[in-house]
Amino acid sequence: MTATTEPMPEAEIRCAGTRKDGSPCGVDPDLLLEDDEQPGVIHWCFNHHPAYEAERELARSRGGHSKAAKDRRSGSRFLTTHDLGDLETPADALRWSQVIAGSVVTGKLGSNAAAVALKALEAWVKAHEAVDLEARLAELETRVERTTRGGMV
Ligand SMILES: [Zn+2]
Repeated sequence: MTATTEPMPEAEIRCAGTRKDGSPCGVDPDLLLEDDEQPGVIHWCFNHHPAYEAERELARSRGGHSKAAKDRRSGSRFLTTHDLGDLETPADALRWSQVIAGSVVTGKLGSNAAAVALKALEAWVKAHEAVDLEARLAELETRVERTTRGGMV
């Protein structure tokens, strides 16, 4: 049981980062992290979190004008959504945690980034469990209702 702060209205929470083409980053709100300086006000996905900007810059300058793929080969310590895939089901969440853990062990991912990623993943799992539980309860209620109404012999 964790007593966290009030959940923010979902529509207002968005990654403050932008994509390469300048459009706003559309990362799932469940995966957003709070800004170090202004928690609760500014949110980032772990690709855009400024805490990792220096590390990303380093990886970029090391490789000249490199593309993402080249960055990865030349030692960038970040995963991409390509490494992780979608996060829609508990099976996806399990795969994410495996990929993240494996990447830390092999040195592909910095432990700071991994801690942030796992925190986001944990938040996702919690949110997903709550939704899943509600759905199961509703289904059970329906079954019980049906049984008590017409199922008795
Ligand atoms: Zn982002």
